[in-house]
Amino acid sequence: MLVATIAAVLIVDAHEDIAWNALTFGRDYTTSARQIRAAEAGTETPAQNGMACLGRAEWLAGRVGVILATLFVSPQRHRLGAWDQLCHHDATEAYRLAHAQLNHYLRMEDEHPTFRVIRNRADLDAVTGSWEAQPPAQRRVGLVFLMEGADPIRAPDEVQHWHERGVRLIGPAWRRTRYCGGTGDPGALTCAGEALLEHMAACGIILDVSHMSDRNFEQALEHYDGIVIASHANLRCAADLNTPERALSDDQIRKLAARDGVIGVIPYN
Ligand SMILES: [Zn+2]
Repeated sequence: MLVATIAAVLIVDAHEDIAWNALTFGRDYTTSARQIRAAEAGTETPAQNGMACLGRAEWLAGRVGVILATLFVSPQRHRLGAWDQLCHHDATEAYRLAHAQLNHYLRMEDEHPTFRVIRNRADLDAVTGSWEAQPPAQRRVGLVFLMEGADPIRAPDEVQHWHERGVRLIGPAWRRTRYCGGTGDPGALTCAGEALLEHMAACGIILDVSHMSDRNFEQALEHYDGIVIASHANLRCAADLNTPERALSDDQIRKLAARDGVIGVIPYN
């Protein structure tokens, strides 16, 4: 009975940098982790980025039905090496690079029937329904766009534009952005950050508090009354991090629960 119940469960992977990996390293996630690893054998990529762990074959085998697929660009000051190409000098460049990632997801959807971008409840129902009675070939992996680090939003009133393009979640921070401090790169929620949260609430965009400092977390919850999640965060009491605020305190977990929030945990890394 338990097995039958587990077999019916669909996994939501709340944070995957698919487009960033595809455009930076040429990883083809429409194949499998095995094929990506074979393609990268003898290259520098595994040392730079770790071994590929995911791909279409693994998502289907593991019943990963919904993925929050990120739009992620980093500031030049945090560039990791010559290979790290998707870095921006300013908001205009961040805007362009994030659009390139969004277009990558649209191409995945166009070119491969497995993938479907989820923009509304009907899309979500179509994806989850495809796992119920259909033969395995009919199963769909839904992609929901999550912007990690809000620098690609050139001004707060541009949130509407990104919503029209399909973005349904925004994490204002990664490292520090123009809107918010971030991991290892502190700062306050700025005036622009407060305006960003207002525009997000007006569009119904979910707030992702991942990477926010304790101070940013409190400020954001105060200024935002919509749905709040932590897409990728572990427990501070169990984590041993150089940047402890990257993980959630017990108090923060209680506050997320009180807002009906959810947490995407990182079981292996
Ligand atoms: Zn992150």
